Amino acid sequence: MKVLKFGGTSVGSVENMTNVKNIINDGKKKIVVLSAMSGTTNILVGIANDIKANAIDKALEDISALHEKYINVIDELLIDSELNVSTKNYISARFNFLIECVYKPFSAILENEILAQGELMSTFMFNCFLQQEGIKSSLLPALDFMKIDAIKEPDFEYIKEKLSNVLQNVPEADIYITQGFICLNTNGEVSNLQRGGSDYTATIIGAAIKAEEVQIWTDIDGMHNNDPRFVEGTKPISDLSFDEAAELAYFGAKILHPQTVLPVREDGIPVRLKNTMDPAAKGTSITSNHVENGIKAIAAKDNITAIKIKSGRMLQAHGFLKKVFEIFETYETSIDMITTSEVAVSLTIDDDRNLEKIVHELEAFAKIEVDKNQSIVCLVGHSIVNHEKSYKLFKILKDVKIRMISYGGSKNNISILVDSKDKINTLQKLNNYLFELVTL
Ligand code: ADP
Ligand code: ASP
Ligand code: MG
Repeated sequence: MKVLKFGGTSVGSVENMTNVKNIINDGKKKIVVLSAMSGTTNILVGIANDIKANAIDKALEDISALHEKYINVIDELLIDSELNVSTKNYISARFNFLIECVYKPFSAILENEILAQGELMSTFMFNCFLQQEGIKSSLLPALDFMKIDAIKEPDFEYIKEKLSNVLQNVPEADIYITQGFICLNTNGEVSNLQRGGSDYTATIIGAAIKAEEVQIWTDIDGMHNNDPRFVEGTKPISDLSFDEAAELAYFGAKILHPQTVLPVREDGIPVRLKNTMDPAAKGTSITSNHVENGIKAIAAKDNITAIKIKSGRMLQAHGFLKKVFEIFETYETSIDMITTSEVAVSLTIDDDRNLEKIVHELEAFAKIEVDKNQSIVCLVGHSIVNHEKSYKLFKILKDVKIRMISYGGSKNNISILVDSKDKINTLQKLNNYLFELVTL
């Protein structure tokens, strides 16, 4: 069986939902994972923030505007009057729940319950739409099988067992529809797989059922060789290895949630990235094959903080780095890049929630400098560190102030830290030289 995931834009309008229906309606059994309609999760985040800030009127206004939008979509999507009414009833119940939330005390659990409404609504609507179109479909409630453990990793044993039970207990169908993104935590409370997490849901399910393939359908024809939001003339990459895709996703290629390929890499289950608006386009295949050496793509990750730890005592002092790392470990803050010299070590983090406490502890034995608003620009490709063009990086970027460089940590990745205001210039310069046949 295949698992197909459709993102926010793919279910964001009646026209796109009709495209999705045409793509999945090929007579083969499949599991379809859906995101919330595009924009919905952002609005739900806004509503949760309003509740937190006690801005009750604003929260109620946003809930009412979103409800109206859904009513309009349902009227366009569901012309069958019975399905139209039952869907409106379900959606109204979700919006009544949101109104109740406005008067509850804010908590992280409440926020997660609010965020879960988007996927609950899109899947219910789409399931009714398929029934209207005469397609045999069943809903698989994600909260009945999707669970994360204490360190927020998927609990595969639980997921496998529960998903198999759910599949046996729902009415037999050709298309099984489930919610991306949402899950339970170890306490049985509603949680999620972080923003963009529906991709991750798809590969977790793919691994759990040992799927033949996982397809991620989105609004672009696969992984491009640079970030199309900032660079002109980017091109789709037809093949990537799991390792290359994992690096690109981790270092900011928004098309994939950072953890997407991890569940399927070990079993070698292929992941294909496809465009819902252009199903004939080839897209990107992610497999265990290393197709060719060379520089494949560039990605960038923002909101990075660089910390320089300088200590006269570092010189020849074994155990210094251990002391540094233990502080980051205490605050559950992971380090992305690291470079060392004889007197200082520089490292980067993207989660700065505990920055002040970390800096305070480091200051007990070192001089600390913090630079916020940094971006990691990452070049990815098989054996990229040995590629002839990689040697010219400093020449290509001679006008850019490079704060750190990481070369050789993995042979598939070279990372450069720059100030975020230099990010677009850096991406474009690298693009021109690496992919547009500009010679130096
Ligand atoms: P979905 O809602 O379907 O999950 P996303 O918005 O999460 O879609 O991901 C698709 C978007 O990712 C594209 O529209 C594009 O703007 C952005 N993107 C960023 N980097 C890349 C890249 N290297 N290749 C393709 N798309 C990228
Ligand atoms: N709806 C969620 C989000 O917007 C999950 C997803 O779309 O993948 O982050
Ligand atoms: Mg996404």
